[in-house]
Amino acid sequence: MNLNDYRGVLVFVEQRSNEIQNVSLELLGKGRKIADELGVSLMAVLPGYEAKKHAKLLVEYGADKVILVDDKALEIFTTEPYTQALVKVINDEKPEVVLFGATSIGRDLAPRISARLQTGLTADCTSLEVDEDRMLLMTRPAFGGNIMATIVSPDHRPQMSTVRPGVMTKLERDATRKGEIVHVDMKFEKNSQYVEVISFEQETEEKMDIQESNVLISGGRGVGSAENFSLLYDLADELSGLVSASRAAVDSGWMDHDRQVGQTGKTVRPNLYLACGISGAIQHVAGMEEADLIIAINKDKGAPIFDVSDLGIVGDVHKVLPFVIEEIKKIND
Ligand code: FAD
Repeated sequence: MNLNDYRGVLVFVEQRSNEIQNVSLELLGKGRKIADELGVSLMAVLPGYEAKKHAKLLVEYGADKVILVDDKALEIFTTEPYTQALVKVINDEKPEVVLFGATSIGRDLAPRISARLQTGLTADCTSLEVDEDRMLLMTRPAFGGNIMATIVSPDHRPQMSTVRPGVMTKLERDATRKGEIVHVDMKFEKNSQYVEVISFEQETEEKMDIQESNVLISGGRGVGSAENFSLLYDLADELSGLVSASRAAVDSGWMDHDRQVGQTGKTVRPNLYLACGISGAIQHVAGMEEADLIIAINKDKGAPIFDVSDLGIVGDVHKVLPFVIEEIKKIND
């Protein structure tokens, strides 16, 4: 393999129900920076159906070239047609770097593509940099978050990684940016892994994404029971936020895994993160430390959560929360 044959940065753009996912815009922000450092162009590949209307948006968020693969078979994600589409685009364009969101779709797709292209993949990166030899330095937590490992792919191209939603920052949208838009036609090979989507059900409102919320009221084991979470829901309602949880609360069956914050949950970056009865284990903190304002309520004044908090309240959540809700209600009324 001649590594110099590969040039450019490519971002896989994820759409669901023909809506562009935020993580893809975040990756365009990071991809733009890497492309500028390498002196190459930033490509965005968007598989979907009737998704052409989004091409301009992707340019406005940093792409130099948008590659549309528009086909009915790509309307709803299934692994095989998406893999075939991405493998074709990567083989045609030969980018040196390919980035995916570490979403359920990205986590399914990226390993399949890396295996087919016989190249490496680093999952769940928290930092991406390039060195003087054009090598992508892919950093991710290892050994339960106790060390950070920086991984390189010296002999194979493209260098591929997945990045969790909320980790990178998107650029300011710039409506004056210009870019090229190209279409790629696919002839899909029907092989044994080809599945047919029979029906598709949209998630209900209770399944709203905690990564999209500006305010998160998060509960841990200290909340005590599923019923006690009603206080957190009341406060979230008053602040137009959502309720999230630590793994201990999820493992106790008090909350859906979908709402877990942390290393094996989601990385969140809200304006306000209120941690209620959460100790602040490293695996939890890894998912919320980038919040703008962190407030913790914990009855143990030595709890590690206070080390990452801007404001700490030492007290019983069951006493503090009703008081806070009452005061906020007064302001809201
Ligand atoms: P605890 O650690 O039990 O803390 C409860 C806290 O509540 C205590 O600080 C206590 O003082 C306080 N408290 C108790 N009663 C009250 C009260 N009435 N009022 C106020 N405070 C009270 N954890 C995650 O959260 N997310 C992850 O993604 C995650 N991934 C992990 C991955 C790995 C590989 C491993 C090994 C662990 C992971 N964990 C994760 C688990 C993590 O190590 C902790 O066990 C977990 O975060 C603890 O949750 P907690 O803070 O709710 O519970």
